[in-house]
Amino acid sequence: MNRREFLFSLGMLGVSIAWAKEEKEKPRCSICGMFVEENSPISFKGDRNGQPVLFCSFSCAHAFHKKYPDATLTTFDYHSHQAIPADKAYFLIKSEKLASEYKFAMAPVVTSFATEQGAKMAKERVKEGEIVAGFSAVAKIFGR
Ligand SMILES: [Zn+2]
Repeated sequence: MNRREFLFSLGMLGVSIAWAKEEKEKPRCSICGMFVEENSPISFKGDRNGQPVLFCSFSCAHAFHKKYPDATLTTFDYHSHQAIPADKAYFLIKSEKLASEYKFAMAPVVTSFATEQGAKMAKERVKEGEIVAGFSAVAKIFGR
């Protein structure tokens, strides 16, 4: 290996370490281990004994909620990405078009909105889906 090749391999090593670090630091779902986009309107946040827990989707949040019904769940508005209590959020469900906007999504894809008006706007745009108020109501529809 000459000096140039050596420097090149050092550079490649640096790139792969940086990349591996970035992958490691991306938050993952506490249930399924899938990557979670922060403040994504399909993700949920919870709390377990003071430890934050993160969920990629409704399915994983629901699995947690069934086990710990007293734990509070937060989700994020589709338009503003502001945190909303999951029991006060509006959800647009059964829209394949909206589901296709997300990279990491476990079916069923349920998108969160802070207001009913916000959910209606998204529904008008994709021209499909159903608006449901509150996490428990969605759980009744998809609940297992
Ligand atoms: Zn998950």
